Amino acid sequence: MQLKELKGIGEKTSELLNKLSIFCVEDLVNFYPRDYDIYENTIFVKDINDYMDKPAVAIDAIVANTPDMKRAGNLMIISAILKDELGQGMKATWFNMPYLKTTLRMGYRFVFRGRVIFKNGGYVMEQPVMYTMADYAKLLNEMQPIYSLTKGLSNKIVTKAVAQALAIFRSQEDYIPDAIIEKYKLTEYNIAIQNIHFPKNMEIFCEARKRLVFEEFFMFIMSIRQLKDNNDLQPNHYYIPNDDRTDKLIEMLPYKLTNAQLNTWEEVKQNMAGNKLMNRLIQGDVGSGKTIIAILALMNAVYMGYQSAMMVPTEVLAKQQYESIKNMFIEYNIDIKMALLIGSLTAKEKSLEYERIQSGEAQIVIGTHALIQEKVQYDNLALVITDEQHRFGVNQREALSNKGKQPHILVMSATPIPRTLAIIIYGDLDISIIDEMPSNRLPIKNCVVGESYRPKAYQFISEQVSQGRQAYVICPMVEESENVEAENVVDYSKILKEGLPKIMTKDGTFKPICIEYLHGKMKSSLKNEIMEKFTAGHIDVLVSTTVIEVGVNVPNTTVMMIENADRFGLAQLHQLRGRVGRGSNQSYCIFVSNSKSKKTKERLDILNKTNDGFKIAEEDMKLRGPGDFFGIRQSGIMEFGIGDIFTDALILKDASDAVNEIMDKDPELLNDENQSLKEKLVKQTERLINKLNI
Ligand code: ADP
Ligand code: MG
Repeated sequence: MQLKELKGIGEKTSELLNKLSIFCVEDLVNFYPRDYDIYENTIFVKDINDYMDKPAVAIDAIVANTPDMKRAGNLMIISAILKDELGQGMKATWFNMPYLKTTLRMGYRFVFRGRVIFKNGGYVMEQPVMYTMADYAKLLNEMQPIYSLTKGLSNKIVTKAVAQALAIFRSQEDYIPDAIIEKYKLTEYNIAIQNIHFPKNMEIFCEARKRLVFEEFFMFIMSIRQLKDNNDLQPNHYYIPNDDRTDKLIEMLPYKLTNAQLNTWEEVKQNMAGNKLMNRLIQGDVGSGKTIIAILALMNAVYMGYQSAMMVPTEVLAKQQYESIKNMFIEYNIDIKMALLIGSLTAKEKSLEYERIQSGEAQIVIGTHALIQEKVQYDNLALVITDEQHRFGVNQREALSNKGKQPHILVMSATPIPRTLAIIIYGDLDISIIDEMPSNRLPIKNCVVGESYRPKAYQFISEQVSQGRQAYVICPMVEESENVEAENVVDYSKILKEGLPKIMTKDGTFKPICIEYLHGKMKSSLKNEIMEKFTAGHIDVLVSTTVIEVGVNVPNTTVMMIENADRFGLAQLHQLRGRVGRGSNQSYCIFVSNSKSKKTKERLDILNKTNDGFKIAEEDMKLRGPGDFFGIRQSGIMEFGIGDIFTDALILKDASDAVNEIMDKDPELLNDENQSLKEKLVKQTERLINKLNI
């Protein structure tokens, strides 16, 4: 059913919903809230620090002065001091609500509920809604969904649309077999989906969420299990022994491989020359040196007369990997021809690359998922490597391996998942772990600071630049958006141009620092150009969104400054920090956050204390604990829609057990009770393939 058929949704709203990847009623139903606004007990003003993360808080207070009314341009501002039972006061402001004059009088008592911000040295409650005590008691514990939005779309519109969609969508058959539902005490599907949007209370919400998380993991494990069974049957079509030219390269490198790298390389070599096809995951923290292992494997395949390919998640990274491998081949006199396949090539360039790939002239192909488009015909593809695996789904991996006659598969990931979880999530793969950092690295020096520290940070960046180093500054947003006060790259780079002290050159003149910005919405060609300039050292400071988060390698960069650090998940911050400390110079990471929340401070402090990805993941999990779903999601780690592999580790384990139970009894899913499940699995795969346009 089309979105436009819903009440209150016209052409324009429909297009806005499309932007959020919502195209039909089913998509709406599956568009889970990002958070909930909960009508919680009133708090005291003295405790406000602990509640700064909340979308709103309620205080029971009296109006302590005669409200002040001011006009500022078109705005009519009312402000008042609210005092709670303990006598502590807080400012509140309202915009364009002159009618409040009658209700808002000195001495009147209400429950005031609104968002609190920290402004001009004090706390201010913005636009609080007022309730009588009795009315508020009725609302207590109610949860209102908060959805991710895009400019022009309000939460109210989305909420209404979802409510309608739910009414239409009702009574889908539950495809998880009854026995599993009973054993794991899962809420029925239709109830869960209703309650995830409109839970009556926290308990009901938790039940609904558990069911949906279970289901997500369950389906995921189901599909990797099928892959695994398929893999196990595959003989090695491509026998690839080690070629001594890779040994020579290892000797020529300017560094010695770590023991962990050597062990991993050994496992990869054995796989490729073994009886069975390789299906291996290399897990190693950012900067542990995974790429060189990939290059060696790609080379061996080529020396045996085959083609090999490496798929990476972004064009920027594809381009960079391509250039750096090419340069390496030139430097060490390695005669291997490469091709680069990215979406932004012109039609002509593309067909040229297709030809070189089909004829076998191109021996190593690097690219984004353009690598797995229908039109790409390989000559003799024997090895496929995917870098930063967590950004790709299982199905993409599968599609790629379908490109040839089941090539060897090597996936690389920096996601610090404990081994027990990795075995479930990467159930179809063997695992190598690089748990050792190259020895030439100095640990990154970290600090967490408030915004007032900026001038000092800018001074520091200037000093680093004057020593020939480079810096990244990360901001969460692209452009100014309504309501959100996050820094944004476009405006920020303007501010930075003023704020960064000029540096003195050798001849004693002052030279401004070269600053550019980068974000995901820029044209690919421009992104590539900027990244090339930065890599070449022609740009000193790069202001960027998280597009540079994955894999980018510019070892000369020594400063990573992250604005609004509280807006990112810890894993993501760790990935971002991994962009520095990649060379022999001392590197620094500056986390900037003005958040007053105790919890946020504790979270950021974890990063301050350790550079070890595994420890960070573990500490983060402890801090959030199972059941703390409203914290910042671990975006960037395995893109699950609702589940979180860390905090939902127990559900993950249950789902894994459930899959085993079913597959042990009915591996081909032929029994009656498993038919809707089988159908759903097929449908899910088809849907994904359609989405990816493979
Ligand atoms: P990641 O594991 O994050 O993909 P890379 O493979 O990009 O890390 O390696 C990061 C940097 O470390 C690169 O500049 C690479 O040349 C260098 N490197 C790799 N292995 C070693 C090593 N054993 N000793 C020193 N430097 C290394
Ligand atoms: Mg990498």
